[in-house]
Amino acid sequence: REKAQLMSASEIDRTLVRLAHEVLEKTIDLEKLAFIGIRRRGIPMAQRLAKKIEELEKVKVPVGVLDIKLYRDDLSTVGPKPVVSDTKIDFSVLGKDVVLMDDVLYTGRTIRAALDALFELGRPARVQLLVLIDRGHRELPIEAQYVGRKVPTSSREIIEVKFQEIDQLEKVLLVEK
Ligand code: 5GP
Ligand code: MG
Repeated sequence: REKAQLMSASEIDRTLVRLAHEVLEKTIDLEKLAFIGIRRRGIPMAQRLAKKIEELEKVKVPVGVLDIKLYRDDLSTVGPKPVVSDTKIDFSVLGKDVVLMDDVLYTGRTIRAALDALFELGRPARVQLLVLIDRGHRELPIEAQYVGRKVPTSSREIIEVKFQEIDQLEKVLLVEK
């Protein structure tokens, strides 16, 4: 059940513009910058941010993809386990200034799995995290350096992110399960 619209299409774009500027502000060497989008909705985010940075700085930022699926284990009492199922990173991460991107940050378990997968490919110089929404409820000491919006959620609330490239519409909703 929809409870509230958190962002419209133009608000999403404005937020991504701000995040692109924040990334540039904290980047010393643009040539080392690389984005990695986490499956599904982290991918359009990484592509759009790379495009904005190309427009602003005339630098092409390489974009890679990590696909992390959540597996439910009947024996588990701590929720689904994130497993890396596919990786499309056709550049060397060695020495790169990597920004991982996901639509929503929740327990942090997916990002932990992403970091494990990333370090198996090589050692980046730095890894940061960018998310559109931080909905709280962390179970690991993981924080995002770049946050579109912090939305404290109850255990019954989830965030619905809709992107044009995937959903043919564009908005962020707060939904009651
Ligand atoms: P984690 O618990 O590992 O932080 O999140 C698991 C995965 O589910 C991540 O890819 C995260 O983006 C996604 N996720 C967690 N909560 C929500 C939510 O409320 N809405 C959306 N769209 N994705 C979520
Ligand atoms: Mg996600």
